[in-house]
Amino acid sequence: MLTRRSFLPALAASTAALRGAALRGAARRPNIVMIYADDLGYGDLGCYGHPTIRTPNLDRMAAEGMKFTEWYSAAPVCTPSRAALLTGRYPVRSGLTRVLFPYSEGGIPNSEVTIAEQLKSTGYHTAMVGKWHLGHLPKYLPTHHGFDSYFGLPYSNDMMPTAGPGAGGVAKYDPLPLISGDQVIERGPDQSRLTERYTAEALKTIRGSRTQPYFLYFAHTFPHVPLYAGAKFRGRSPRGLYGDVVEEIDWSVGQVLQAIRETGQERNTLVIFSSDNGPWLPRKENGGSAGLLKEGKGTTWEGGMREPCIARFPGFIPAGRVSAAHGNMMDFFPTFCHLAGAALPKGITLDGTDMSEVLAGRSEGVERTFYYWSGDDLRAVRKGPWKLHTAINFSEGQPTAVRKLEKPSLFNVRTDPSERFDVAEANPEIVHELLALLEQHAASTMQAPKQK
Ligand code: MG
Repeated sequence: MLTRRSFLPALAASTAALRGAALRGAARRPNIVMIYADDLGYGDLGCYGHPTIRTPNLDRMAAEGMKFTEWYSAAPVCTPSRAALLTGRYPVRSGLTRVLFPYSEGGIPNSEVTIAEQLKSTGYHTAMVGKWHLGHLPKYLPTHHGFDSYFGLPYSNDMMPTAGPGAGGVAKYDPLPLISGDQVIERGPDQSRLTERYTAEALKTIRGSRTQPYFLYFAHTFPHVPLYAGAKFRGRSPRGLYGDVVEEIDWSVGQVLQAIRETGQERNTLVIFSSDNGPWLPRKENGGSAGLLKEGKGTTWEGGMREPCIARFPGFIPAGRVSAAHGNMMDFFPTFCHLAGAALPKGITLDGTDMSEVLAGRSEGVERTFYYWSGDDLRAVRKGPWKLHTAINFSEGQPTAVRKLEKPSLFNVRTDPSERFDVAEANPEIVHELLALLEQHAASTMQAPKQK
């Protein structure tokens, strides 16, 4: 019988051995912890070059694991980004293309299979802490979509009475609901304690006494505005309040890693840290930084969708690696299934790719094609180093026309990550090829009914 110690080399040696061992239940399968920040920019962590925000725990996590430099969210705003992460599919497929509000009646459809449902079906304990944003009505909450437990806010922390009149004829939003399971347990919780309370709940899952592996999805409310930092962090960062908030999230990551270590599961736990979309630049000093990348949240420039992404799994992921593999949040669905020995759902189009070979340090990644959606518009495509901006409008769920209000622009985002130099005129063949890819993707993408 394999012990956990002998299981890990088997995992590194052969994917077949991994799946076989996992499926036989011969050893405990890896725990998976997915930490997702909100509106954290590509340039907001020390290990991604920020000069004054101090993130020693995330920096250490990167030094002990793998840091990705070309990892993308599948949308530049909250709801569709999270839909893509949990379903492994472009948001257009689930209809979750736009941000949901407190008056929204829609949410994640039952026809979607979440990664939590897939892992739970193979025996994982599944827990979610933090911001959900895939529907606030009970039938859409995490505990109805694969999670055994939930504690957090169902939508963004600025959707509260002081936000002023909302759309949909709603004069003001109700005070923020803090939810446990599918019940509202508080209204208008003290936001300066949210990160601390979320962290305490996350540690309960990590420290819980059980024999099965766990999947913990820990989605922070911050650094989405309005910003609140705990008493121990307020007024501490040279970067000001935004820095205080990010440094508290870094503290929380340290608590998670420490708890995993204390449970003896350090070499049996994959921990990922990333963010749902780029920084909210119009919020000025209360918004983050995309570093050298152009623009931020809400745009399909690199700053809106390329995110910091750090992965740590001692014994599986080689320490100190920086990977330029082209990856995205939809890749986690098949990657987690592979590591868990779980089958992929049948009859469903997945848009992600299993990246476990990259995580294991055995592959540099392959040339990928990635589509940049913004709401219901398909705006750009990247293949290899080349990124073409244009837009395809959709009407009634069907593609209509390629919008060429401005001529398409082409950037080599490897040599020009800031997207400063349009090289379309010098590369007509590449423009032609990428335009064809956009049109093919548009034509093949059936849009699901929009969730509003
Ligand atoms: Mg966000």
